[in-house]
Amino acid sequence: MTKPAAELTPPPADLADALGRIRSHGGRMTNAKRAMAALLFDSPEPHTADGFVDHLVDHDHSVVYRCLAQFEELGIAEHVHLGHGQAVYRRRGLSTVPVGCTICGSSVDIDLAEAEAFTRRIKALTGISLDLAHFALSGRCARCEAGSADGSSVGAGSHE
Ligand SMILES: [Zn+2]
Ligand SMILES: [Zn+2]
Repeated sequence: MTKPAAELTPPPADLADALGRIRSHGGRMTNAKRAMAALLFDSPEPHTADGFVDHLVDHDHSVVYRCLAQFEELGIAEHVHLGHGQAVYRRRGLSTVPVGCTICGSSVDIDLAEAEAFTRRIKALTGISLDLAHFALSGRCARCEAGSADGSSVGAGSHE
């Protein structure tokens, strides 16, 4: 049995394509897999593993982690590190990269092309090709910055 190498597999075109791939390479189709694939493709926001658990009825973390691992193997999903917390999962093949707030965990997607001059410059300086879809650009959002400046609840103390 050959397992497709996730990096080399083209991303699925849509949900139907993803479900077809799960059916032909991912063993038994389950309600959990169907629901999680639908969430990946229908919801604009990425979810943490806990987020998937919250959206599913009757499925625990181990099921969700197994499915996410399989989706990554099949080239359907990818994970992004937004900060100190749990990674978030999103469908593969998006032309955007997230810019995240390490304090509140919010993120905003920008077009990959917007980061191109930056990544090209870093490559020229260091020889390293940044993978911004895996380790996102991160910092503080305007709200958290305002919150810490006036000394209210979201201060430096919340940072581990
Ligand atoms: Zn924030
Ligand atoms: Zn990772």
